[in-house]
Amino acid sequence: MGSVHSEMNCPRCGYDRCTEEYYYKIHEIFVFCPECGYLYEHKIKRDELGEIITKDGTENYKFENIEYEERTVQSYGSYKLYNDIGLKSLGAFENEKDLDDLIENLKSKKTEHSYTKLEVNIYNDGNILKKVAWKRTKSKKRNPILDPYEEEDWDD
Ligand SMILES: [Zn+2]
Repeated sequence: MGSVHSEMNCPRCGYDRCTEEYYYKIHEIFVFCPECGYLYEHKIKRDELGEIITKDGTENYKFENIEYEERTVQSYGSYKLYNDIGLKSLGAFENEKDLDDLIENLKSKKTEHSYTKLEVNIYNDGNILKKVAWKRTKSKKRNPILDPYEEEDWDD
């Protein structure tokens, strides 16, 4: 699907590499600030089954008949998740609980993954606190093939 990627100043923290993805065929916009986690979405309204909601309730999917919804999230912060090779994913967490859940997930080893480090930026009243929230280090004691990592919690 065609989209235009651009960078802008974050409306919340001012970071100049806040990203905007504009899907011009369907007029959807997604803004994400990798620095503070600010999110903005302007997207097609869909029902629980993912079907497009139209203004008159019919299957007339012409632009002027499609319902859109807008959402701004003043996120708690952003994260960067690394594996051995480098940056694997980045995103925002909307509140403190989302961050706690992510850390719990990483600790529980429920998922098969090779994540090694979680860096977070926490936005607080115009300031950004950067820290390593979770990290695994290679262990010499353990079986390097079956269980190559040892956990290490961040200590403030
Ligand atoms: Zn920002």
